[in-house]
Amino acid sequence: MSAQPPELPPGIERQVPLARLTTIRTGGPAEFFARVRSVAELEQVLVWAARAGLEVGVIGSGSNLLVADAGVRGLVLKMDGDLAEITVDPEDGERIICGGAARLPAVAAAAARAGLAGLEFGVSIPGTVGGAVRMNANAYGGALASVLDWVEVVSREGRDRRTPDQLGFAYRRSNLLTGEVVARARFQLSRADPETVRERLAQLRRQRREAQPSGVRTFGSTFKNPAAGEADGRTAGQLLEAAGCRGLRVGGACFSAKHANFIENVADATTADVVSLMTLGRRRVRERFGIDLEPEVQVLGEVELPSAWRPS
Ligand SMILES: Cc1cc2nc3c(=O)[nH]c(=O)nc-3n(C[C@H](O)[C@H](O)[C@H](O)COP(=O)(O)OP(=O)(O)OC[C@H]3O[C@@H](n4cnc5c(N)ncnc54)[C@H](O)[C@@H]3O)c2cc1C
Repeated sequence: MSAQPPELPPGIERQVPLARLTTIRTGGPAEFFARVRSVAELEQVLVWAARAGLEVGVIGSGSNLLVADAGVRGLVLKMDGDLAEITVDPEDGERIICGGAARLPAVAAAAARAGLAGLEFGVSIPGTVGGAVRMNANAYGGALASVLDWVEVVSREGRDRRTPDQLGFAYRRSNLLTGEVVARARFQLSRADPETVRERLAQLRRQRREAQPSGVRTFGSTFKNPAAGEADGRTAGQLLEAAGCRGLRVGGACFSAKHANFIENVADATTADVVSLMTLGRRRVRERFGIDLEPEVQVLGEVELPSAWRPS
């Protein structure tokens, strides 16, 4: 068990269910949970957690997250308020500053309204700016790193600003450590006709609707695509489909009929169901093609993944 924390500061709750804060809707409660609405509140809570000897986890939109069924020890943070704001920088009009909890589709829409191009890819990624930085989220050829100016990172050590070259971006990863929270980010965009940017957003939304299931409980892509050359250019979804995983089910978890690399929670799935299904899908791809798929989804708490493929 974790160390006994000092008296709970206002706003910190115990045993808060996390499933409803994830898009797959599985998993147990956080031992301690706080909603923080400003950088000052975030700093205070992190100092408290450090004194209490608690590990800190952060949850954005929970759109790439599997929470352990037994719950999460330590403190789980969710940001809100000032930390979800989106502002076009009044000084030069080509930069957008947002809180780490701002949702990417909202940032993409705000950029379009201001006639700024570069963040259109974010319209179909249902995560926050902080989650997108942590995951180096990208879509449709758009690249987060190419428009990111800096991020402000808060941890128990304090606050610092980092530029993209300091974030160790690679395919679906960054070098942010556990307990390092992206509190704010600034994007450098370029001027464009607002109507053209809006049309691009509409086009990307349409493209998404055609390719992926909508209105379902999922965390998006389960596995990363293999490295170029490793699978003759095939994606993880194509490999899973060819290995007969489309529609495969364990408990309440099922590989989507529309997109084989998506797992859906179709009937009160547990995280254990999802992990068993991932294990099964991965084994089938291994047996059929000799390729080891690596998970893209992140975990919070002690999720029993085979040791060879804990997500990084
Ligand atoms: C339908 C669907 C489609 C998707 N399409 C795409 C896509 O096209 N491209 C793509 O890249 N991803 C995609 N995703 C995955 C997901 O939306 C992205 O990875 C997203 O960036 C995760 O953001 P989040 O806020 O939901 O993070 P969460 O899922 O809440 O967390 C993911 C990780 O980021 C960490 N984290 C969250 N917030 C912060 C913060 N402020 N500071 C530090 N760490 C933080 C968490 O601790 C965790 O390790 C999709 C998901 C779904 C459900």
